Amino acid sequence: MLLGCIADDFTGATDLAAMLVAGGMRTVQLIGVPGAGDAPPDADAVVVALKSRTAPVRDAVRDSLAALAWLQQAGCRQIFFKYCSTFDSTDEGNIGPVADALLVALGGGLALVCPAFPANGRSVYQGHLFVGSALLNESGMENHPLTPMRDANLVRVMSRQTEGTVGLIPLVTVAQGAAAIRRAMSQFKEQGRRYAVIDAVMNDDLLAIGEAADGHALVTGGSGVAMGLPDNFRRAGLLADGDSASLPEVGGYAAALAGSCSRATLFQIARARETMPTLELDALATPDAGALAAQALEWADGRLGASPVLIAASAPPDKVAALQARLGREAAGALIEQAMAGIAEGLVARGVRRLVIAGGETSGAIVQKLGVRSLRIGTEIDPGVPWTHAEGVMAEGVAAPMRLALKSGNFGATDFFAKAFVVG
Ligand code: ADP
Repeated sequence: MLLGCIADDFTGATDLAAMLVAGGMRTVQLIGVPGAGDAPPDADAVVVALKSRTAPVRDAVRDSLAALAWLQQAGCRQIFFKYCSTFDSTDEGNIGPVADALLVALGGGLALVCPAFPANGRSVYQGHLFVGSALLNESGMENHPLTPMRDANLVRVMSRQTEGTVGLIPLVTVAQGAAAIRRAMSQFKEQGRRYAVIDAVMNDDLLAIGEAADGHALVTGGSGVAMGLPDNFRRAGLLADGDSASLPEVGGYAAALAGSCSRATLFQIARARETMPTLELDALATPDAGALAAQALEWADGRLGASPVLIAASAPPDKVAALQARLGREAAGALIEQAMAGIAEGLVARGVRRLVIAGGETSGAIVQKLGVRSLRIGTEIDPGVPWTHAEGVMAEGVAAPMRLALKSGNFGATDFFAKAFVVG
């Protein structure tokens, strides 16, 4: 194992894993901290997906250190701490405290802070993070319910969260390439600084930064900077050529489950309805998770076959509001998530082995129900949404192997569902 990654949320982990696969690293995503007895998978990179972005600081640090210990045990040569490209955090953390703890555990030194991902509209100039053409604190992120970002200056933001000192490696240095970046980092190290926020406004900047990070015990950033890391291992002769995205074949039926109510997913469902047998659940008429699941499985019984089916709980805002008004916001969400998890379990019992899931929370509920803990990352269907292969031990009665594609609500083109089953 070459690269060990710790991601502070699930979809961020998948995003990073897909980036590494695209760079030629065979990558497995683990859900939660692996157990001490869990054997490392046969892969070049492992991404441990935590739920530490908005967890209490102590829990985030504890889980990150536990993940680090396992990755070190597995022989990883470099550790990558992945957070959101909008630097989602508060003055208390969790980026600073987690990075501090990881750095201390790794024996100190200097770590890069690089959330930039210009291709996705995240650039850093003079230490200021931009989302598109807007400063972070004018991008809408200033109103985020959990991690409002009211300061775009990452040197200041990081300084408030860490016990160490933070410097800036400006674009003029980055533009001179990896050797210049390395020199700047050495100077920071001599000055006793712990972090270097680094500017990047083009993909080439990320590649130079990735090259300069060769040999660093810890790199921190968004998935963009991971673009430059596989080449370091390739240059060292540690990364074999070959298809890093190939997944074992699976047979069985195919189905899609949608629990996201985002606009993108609603459009995708409307498009899929034209070509796929589609059931839209009516939770208002049947506000009972068990009954909804039973209805859906009865509907699926006659339809599972050569072509995929789609079962959607997703609804437009007025219907969501109606269910929430009746049950309360949390209970409405929990009802649907429980129903979708029950449907997924029933579908797998009926022989479904390729499952597409739309919605972050919905995916989490289903993955938990199926007992999935390890996903090998394959080809992307749309950016950020790869097919994955669930391996290893799953919940009792759930047959592995199977393929899963877990889509965050807003991701994917309008033809996502049909395309998914063509790709994988
Ligand atoms: P996204 O990735 O778009 O945020 P999530 O699955 O994370 O999607 O969140 C969608 C939430 O909406 C889930 O908690 C889901 O259970 C809930 N939900 C889905 N359909 C409905 C509905 N018809 N009424 C109310 N809530 C719903």
